[in-house]
Amino acid sequence: MKKEDCIFCKIAGGDIPSSTVYEDADFRAIMDISPANKGHVIILPKDHFANVFEIPEDLAGKAFQIAKKIAKAEKELFNCDGVNILQNNGEAAGQTVFHFHVHVIPRYTKDTVNVTWKQGAYGEGEAAKIAEELKARL
Ligand code: AMP
Ligand code: ZN
Repeated sequence: MKKEDCIFCKIAGGDIPSSTVYEDADFRAIMDISPANKGHVIILPKDHFANVFEIPEDLAGKAFQIAKKIAKAEKELFNCDGVNILQNNGEAAGQTVFHFHVHVIPRYTKDTVNVTWKQGAYGEGEAAKIAEELKARL
């Protein structure tokens, strides 16, 4: 299902033209309009899902399969030193367009892209406790 006034629904559905890298029945992958590095691609499902919580598991898996293909193509084309596959959910996580998408970004040793964080720490037994709590919810 499409969502009224969602720009990624319109792009994924072909109602707004885009530089398309990949297309199948469920997805379209396009060039990001404001790339972190040249060759930055975003993978969009054709149906509207706001985020990872809404997209069905099989489509989420398929998105990662497409990301792998695109990562390989970027590596071949740019001979980049690395590739980030990123996916943001919610404003707090950096999501700005609320239609699920996966970023595939070519990376270079000396580029200025920043996806790092300050490393935190757990207290004694804390990680194991959280692991159990997460496990109970899967
Ligand atoms: P996020 O911050 O994870 O929600 O990513 C949204 C991404 O969509 C950003 O990298 C934008 O540059 C990109 N973007 C926004 N509008 C368009 C558009 N019309 N065509 C292509 N990419 C877009
Ligand atoms: Zn949408």
